Amino acid sequence: KDINTKENNVAKIKVVVRKRPLNKKEVSRKEDDIVTVRENALTVHEPKQKVDLTAYVEKHEFCFDAVLDENVTNDEVYRETVEPIIPIIFQRTKATCFAYGQTGSGKTFTMQPLPLRAAQDLVRYLHQPVYRNQRFKLWLGFFEIYGGKLYDLLSERKRLFMREDGKQQVCIVGLQEFEVSDVHIVKEYIEKGNATRSTGSTGANEESSRSHAILQLVIKKHSEVKKSKRNNDGNESKAGKVVGKISFIDLAGSERGADTTDNDRQTRIEGAEINKSLLALKECIRALDNDQLHIPFRGSKLTEVLRDSFVGQSRTVMISCISPSVGSCEHTLNTLRYADRVK
Ligand code: ADP
Ligand code: MG
Repeated sequence: KDINTKENNVAKIKVVVRKRPLNKKEVSRKEDDIVTVRENALTVHEPKQKVDLTAYVEKHEFCFDAVLDENVTNDEVYRETVEPIIPIIFQRTKATCFAYGQTGSGKTFTMQPLPLRAAQDLVRYLHQPVYRNQRFKLWLGFFEIYGGKLYDLLSERKRLFMREDGKQQVCIVGLQEFEVSDVHIVKEYIEKGNATRSTGSTGANEESSRSHAILQLVIKKHSEVKKSKRNNDGNESKAGKVVGKISFIDLAGSERGADTTDNDRQTRIEGAEINKSLLALKECIRALDNDQLHIPFRGSKLTEVLRDSFVGQSRTVMISCISPSVGSCEHTLNTLRYADRVK
């Protein structure tokens, strides 16, 4: 049964922009707020100078599925982006929700609370009469892609490897998945994973802006497993068959993709990888939108890992985060142009 048609009207791809408020630093520097929001449109007022130094403002207008201004709460973000997708996760949908934007634009602030709300709703569905007797369980895994390599954020940053099975299902070998029976624990996993991510290998906080963090909530259907059939760690999760899943992706800072001419070799390599992955992501979403048969997921580790979320019953939400300050104008325009290409 094709659920992409009339039966449910959740858009296949949804592009939302979220503008954060000016922060204390920007206020103290008396930076102007140059972004005005009107319903699902926004205008960026870019200050410019002519050759003869006369100042003028160039207006850039954009329109998206939704534009959320600085007064919108995280709860409203959830309702606008993820909530509509939750019921169809049980109908074999694989959903992805991305936060895109420059470092400091509000990606982590936006992304962090979403999996908790989603887990609450998913568990509520699990307990509904239609699903109660189906042996469905909710699982959670949290890992990052850093410099093209995978690390488990809930297992001491253990290095992970990706494998594809014959049915084009992606398997991340060694990823620790945790069964979520009590939703409150999800908050702990999110915090633990984010802490592991931001300290990284060097302990520097800005490291997190160079990695993509991927938190997955997976609904699996479990058959009655005999003890002997379980794998060695007694890990039951592999025994389950994936029904549907939703991935929350806190992307690397979009400005990092420009670090390709940096003096530091490592930074250059990471910048090139980030640039490649953000471009590949854009191409995949566009291909998805055009119902192209060939999805160019081979372009990067990020898109390879998300491969099974780009085929079949998929839903994609892109939350583009922007800063309102005049000092971020160029990055803001870049973010909006990227979002514009995806929509
Ligand atoms: P990023 O993950 O994109 O680098 P953060 O999510 O860390 O950015 O946000 C940078 C700072 O701005 C944080 O201190 C965060 O709490 C704050 N912030 C971001 N978005 C909002 C918002 N919508 N409302 C209030 N504060 C915000
Ligand atoms: Mg962040």
